[in-house]
Amino acid sequence: MNKRNYYKELENKIDEFQKNGVVPKLLLHVCCAPCSSHCLEFLRQYFDVTVFFYNPNITEDREYHKRVAEEKRLIEEYNRQVEEKNFEGMHSDEHARKIAIIEGEYDPKEYFEAVKGYEDIPEGGERCRKCFELRLRKTAETAAKEGFEYFTTTLTISPLKNADVLNEIGEKVAGKAVSFLPSDFKKKDGYKRSIELSQRFCLYRQDYCGCGFSKAERERQKAEDKEK
Ligand code: SF4
Repeated sequence: MNKRNYYKELENKIDEFQKNGVVPKLLLHVCCAPCSSHCLEFLRQYFDVTVFFYNPNITEDREYHKRVAEEKRLIEEYNRQVEEKNFEGMHSDEHARKIAIIEGEYDPKEYFEAVKGYEDIPEGGERCRKCFELRLRKTAETAAKEGFEYFTTTLTISPLKNADVLNEIGEKVAGKAVSFLPSDFKKKDGYKRSIELSQRFCLYRQDYCGCGFSKAERERQKAEDKEK
């Protein structure tokens, strides 16, 4: 069976929307400001985007609040560009639209419950699959409740995350009321662009995924690298 190209699928959908002159309402699950920087720069040209910040996997309260504050600051920057019609150095053009945000409930207990029994599985395995499903399911439910046509996630921009797994889960949790928008945002230098934009807006860029387990793994790696 041919491997699906989720980036191409997204491009095809956008072509179809453009041809029909429609601007769908999209609920974009965002994991952090650096990952969302490129996704928002791109999507705001074709969709009416609302960010959904739902990340109970960020198990430290302080870290969670730091990441959500950075996301809000980035959205303010982008919305100012739209108000001032100034897209200098950006890939967006005059079709770019303002972005809204919904902050999901923050309760790490939901995360611990979802990954129960998989705590010791290394990053990239079943623990992450459960974590993705928790976040995407809540995004799909919220999108359906709030009348969005599509939902997707910025998580596919990370070279450390499997886009096939994320797209499979997205399609699985989409109900009848809302559709999952395929994506692989790292493609076409998307990840590289997110680094450029993070530098431009001086975004806080954490060096671990989010949960305490990933933080401990990262610290172990750093200690091992130091000993080399
Ligand atoms: S490493 Fe990241 S994706 Fe995996 S369980 Fe932890 S927070 Fe979730």
